[in-house]
Formats: sequence, C-alpha cells, structure tokens
Amino acid sequence: MSYDKIDVPEDGTKITLKAGTEDELEVPDDPIIPIIYGDGVGTDVGPAAQQVLEAAAEATGREINWMRLFAGESARERYDENLPEDTVQAIKDHRVAIKGPLTTPVGAGFRSLNVALRKKLDLYANVRPTYYMDGVPSPVSEPEQMDMITFRENTEDVYAGIEWEAGTDEVEQVKTFVEDEMGADDVIHDGPVGIGVKPITEFGSKRLIRRAIDYALEHDRDSVTLVHKGNIMKFTEGQFRDWGYEVAEEEYGDEVITEDTLWEERDGEQPDDAVVVNDRIADNMLQQILTRTDQYDVVATMNLNGDYMSDACGAQIGGLGIAPGANFGDGRMLAEPVHGSAPKYEGQDKVNPTAIILSGRMMFEYMGWTDAADLVRNAVEETISQGLVTYDLERNLEDAEKLATSEFAEAVVDNIETLS
Ligand code: NAP
Repeated sequence: MSYDKIDVPEDGTKITLKAGTEDELEVPDDPIIPIIYGDGVGTDVGPAAQQVLEAAAEATGREINWMRLFAGESARERYDENLPEDTVQAIKDHRVAIKGPLTTPVGAGFRSLNVALRKKLDLYANVRPTYYMDGVPSPVSEPEQMDMITFRENTEDVYAGIEWEAGTDEVEQVKTFVEDEMGADDVIHDGPVGIGVKPITEFGSKRLIRRAIDYALEHDRDSVTLVHKGNIMKFTEGQFRDWGYEVAEEEYGDEVITEDTLWEERDGEQPDDAVVVNDRIADNMLQQILTRTDQYDVVATMNLNGDYMSDACGAQIGGLGIAPGANFGDGRMLAEPVHGSAPKYEGQDKVNPTAIILSGRMMFEYMGWTDAADLVRNAVEETISQGLVTYDLERNLEDAEKLATSEFAEAVVDNIETLS
C-alpha cells in the first residue's frame, strides 16, 4: 500500500472483504478509515464528526485510525489537480470512508467531483434516510410522521453528464441527427440550444431497486415506492418503473407483492412479512410526502428525482444541517452529508455538524457497529433535546442555546460519555 501524498497511519488494520464473498466486510476493532474534509464548511464539520465518531468507537471498545485524503481545494494545493488517483485508490483499498462536501462551479468550470468519485468507485446507490429527532424545529405540524429512506440511483440519468453546449459544432450535429434521422422535427426551437441526453439502463435501475427492496426486507419496512415521471418520459422514467415491477415480481417470490396484487387479490390486507412495491409520479409524490407522510417508507428513484425528493423530505425534519447520506457499491461505501460546501460560512465554526455525524452513524451501521451507531444517534438527539444547538436550529427554537460547530461536537461527546 503506497500512495504519493497520503500519510498512512502506523497503527490500525484495513477493512477487507470476508473470504469468498463480494460484499461482506471483515471489520477489525481498529480500522483505518479514510476521511476527506472537503471544501467550504467541510473543514468545520469534518473534525467535529471525527471527534464524535472517535468517542462513540472508544465507548464501545474500539479505535478509529483516521487517514486524511484530499479532493477539491485541498487536492489542488497538494497535487495540482481536483481528484487525485491517490484519493480514489485509497478509498478502493480501504472500502469504507467518509467525506465532507465538495464545491462544483455552476455553468462552467470542472465537472462535479462528487459525481466523479461516485462513478469511479461505482457507488451506485445514494442512500438518504430522513427521520425525526426529538427537539428539532420543523415547518410541519407532525414531523414525527416522517421516517423514509431514499435510494437514489447514482451513476446514470443526469449524472451520466451527456450534454452538448449551445453554439458548438457538436450540438449542431446532435440537433441535425435528432431532427433528420430520428424524426424529432419541429421539436427544437430555432436559435442557440443546449442538448442533454439521460440514459436509464435496465442494469442500473434493477441493481438500485434490488438494493432498496433488500433493505426493506432486512429492516422490516412495509413498502418500496418507485418514484418516476413516466407519464411524460415513458422510455426512461416509465421504463425504470417497469423494470422495478419486473424485479419485484420475478426475483422475490412471496416476500414482495405489488400494490395491484394487494388490492385485486387481498382486498388491501398486507401479509405481515411481505413488502409492497408501488409507484408514484414524482410531482404527486412531492405533495404526498407532505399530505400522507406516514404512508411512505422506502423510496427507489432515479438521480434527479432522488435529489429533489431527499431535500424536500429533509426540510420536514430539520433541514440540510441534519440530513445524512451515504453512497454504496458492492462491498464499499462512502458516507457524506446531503448538504454542500455552504461557502459563505466557511471557517466560521458555525454550521451544524449533525449531518456528517449522522452520515458517520450510517458508516458504523454498514461496518456492523450497531451499538456505536445507536450511541451516536442517541447522543445527538439528547444534545438537541437539551436545547444545545447550532445557529440553524436555534433560529427556530425558543430558549435554545446557540453553540459553535466545535462546541456542539463537544456537547455530543459529553452525552456519549453519559449514555454509555
Ligand atoms: P449548500 O452548500 O448545501 O448550502 C445551502 C444552504 O443550506 C446554506 O446556505 C445553509 O442555509 C444550509 N446549510 C448547508 N449546510 C449546512 C450545515 N451544515 N448547517 C446548517 N445549515 C446548512 O448548497 P449550495 O449553496 O447550493 O451549494 C454550495 C456548493 O456545494 C456548490 O458548489 C454545490 O455544487 C456544492 N454541493 C456539494 C454537495 C456534495 O459535496 N455532496 C452537495 C450539494 C452541493 P442558511 O444559509 O439558510 O442557513
């Protein structure tokens, strides 16, 4: 294991795959875990998360050996590039890692490093749980009804990044091909045009949907909802839905039933141990999560829908400051908060580290450290319930104490010590 500019910790053991498996981890009690702080507020929330996760590991008889990796601004300083091969290789080698946000310029400049990392590592499922924690202010009257987990496809749809810029020869060639050879004449207005193509494949859709159904079965969830815009985009979004039903009907036997079967053959009576697969059109779904929140459970959807959906869900239970996420491939994962680099708050020791801390909780769950994962969640919830919060929650609470990022992390560590 040798890298160009990474300091590998002297102590600690690598997480590996269990012999004979392709996705089961062998996790030592002293793992080496790579961490990328990221851009903007990443340098505020990254160290805060390290402190909390270390405390939870120690309280459950383990030790984390952190290995700093670089991407974005920190990589440009050291490697003169945005996403060095060192970083990608080190995550591949160590299987489980955590990162903060990375800045992506809008309109021009380099393409998203987050997208590049997820694609290079084939982290095909972006998983975003949204659940309510006591004491968190919410814009809705019954936020505790929200307990959903979104499985968002992470390698295709708009993330495939197939676009041609207005004014280029390439876009004119694509326009001519679409109009003259594919029969789509009279569709594109005259004048400058940018064109994008979104691929949705059977392979990409089915492996994502399988992962969502497996999760629902393993965690006793009632339903998996396929969210799509198939009424308009029949051969991409509509096809995603159809492939979803194919997986449900062909691969799971009695463990999974469709909503049609539920009503046509069982009069709405759901068998105790079965998961129901249904589908909703995306615009309807965005209102259903407000009007019928408790009826939704696990969601499987394509990239763009998943981005909108998970932020909308997150808004109901406290906003981006507390919304965690993680990217999963086969036998590897990269935890990361949903929020971005919020550059206006960079270096102010101000923003909420809960989102990255709870992303770390997902990492612990994946490593099989469920006791440490529960401890992290309980300590965060206890801290917020005590009215000890960062600015984003404090502005919507009466009688709460506004803490800095680092002070909040210390308060969570104190609660870890009290609860363990
Ligand atoms: P953003 O960085 O998520 O920030 C949007 C707003 O969300 C902030 O102004 C703040 O709202 C709130 N917020 C975000 N993180 C918070 C935290 N930890 N604690 C409390 N509040 C928080 O979104 P953006 O401004 O659209 O994007 C900025 C950059 O991040 C862009 O370059 C974008 O491409 C990138 N980005 C990266 C990722 C990633 O790395 N995975 C994800 C999304 C965006 P208030 O000001 O209202 O308090």
